[in-house]
Amino acid sequence: MKYRDVIIAEPNGFCSGVRNALAMIEKKLETITGNIYILKGLIHNNGIAAELKKCGCIFVDDVEEIPPGAETVFGAHGVSLKVKNLAAEKMLRVTDATCPLVEQLQQQAHAVTPEKELVLFGHPGHPELEGVIGHAGTKKIFVIRTPQEVEELPELDAPVLLVQTTLSHVEAEKVKKALKTRFPNAETPGNICRASLLRQQAVERLAPECDLFVVAGSSHSSNANRLRETAERCGVRSVLLDSPGEVTPELLAGVRTIGLSAAASTPEYQIEALRKALEETP
Ligand code: SF4
Repeated sequence: MKYRDVIIAEPNGFCSGVRNALAMIEKKLETITGNIYILKGLIHNNGIAAELKKCGCIFVDDVEEIPPGAETVFGAHGVSLKVKNLAAEKMLRVTDATCPLVEQLQQQAHAVTPEKELVLFGHPGHPELEGVIGHAGTKKIFVIRTPQEVEELPELDAPVLLVQTTLSHVEAEKVKKALKTRFPNAETPGNICRASLLRQQAVERLAPECDLFVVAGSSHSSNANRLRETAERCGVRSVLLDSPGEVTPELLAGVRTIGLSAAASTPEYQIEALRKALEETP
C-alpha cells in the first residue's frame, strides 16, 4: 500500500565517472581469476563495496599493502604521482579507473608553477584531494574547507583556486568571491564537476515542494552529503539513507511528500528499494 508520494529529482544517481569505473572492474573480474586489490575504494558506496568483496576484491588504503605484481585498480577518485610511481616500482598490474574529470583537476594542479600558491577548496583526507595534492606543481598548498577560511589564509602572491569535484556549487562560488575580494589577482579556474552541479540543481528545484528530502547514498560519499545539505539549505528536513532498513515510521511521521535524490555512486536498484520503502512504510 502507498502511504505517501515520493518525487524523484532528475538527474540523480550514477555519473559517467562511476559508470566507467564499474565497467572497468566488471571487465577485470571477467578476465582475472586471482585477487584484485582496489586502492582507496572504487567509488563511495557501501553496497557496491560489499558486492566487490564477495567477488574477491581486496580493499586497501596504502599501496604498500599490495603484493608485488598484483592486479590493482585505482578508484574513480584518483591517486597521487607518488602512488603511481610506487605501483610501477612494485610492477603492479594497474587498471586506472580515475574519472577523466578528476584527471583534469590533477593536471590543473600540476600546471600551478612553483612561484604560485595552490588554494584547494576541499575536504582534507578525501582521496580525491590527496591525489590532486600529489600532482601539484607547487609546494605552496593551502587547503580550505569553508569560504570563511579564506580570511585565515596568509598573504599570498599569486593564488590559484581549484575545487574538489563534488562540493557545493553555492559554497564554491562563495569561496571564489572571497578569494577574489582578498586577492584581486587570484586565478579561479576551479569548479565542481557538471554531474555534481546538475544533481544539486535538481534538488534545489524539487526541495521546496517537499516535507522531507531523502538522499540515497553512503555516509562517506562527499556528493551524497552535499545533496543532503542542498535540500537543507532550501529549508527542508533532509536525511541521508544507505538502505531501506533505515526507513522508520518515526522518520516519516506527518510526512506526505518526499523528495528523493541519489549520490553519483548510488546504483539504480538501491534508489528503487528506498523509494518503495518510503512509499510503503506506514
Ligand atoms: S562525481 Fe564528477 S568527478 Fe566524481 S566520478 Fe562522477 S563525474 Fe567524475
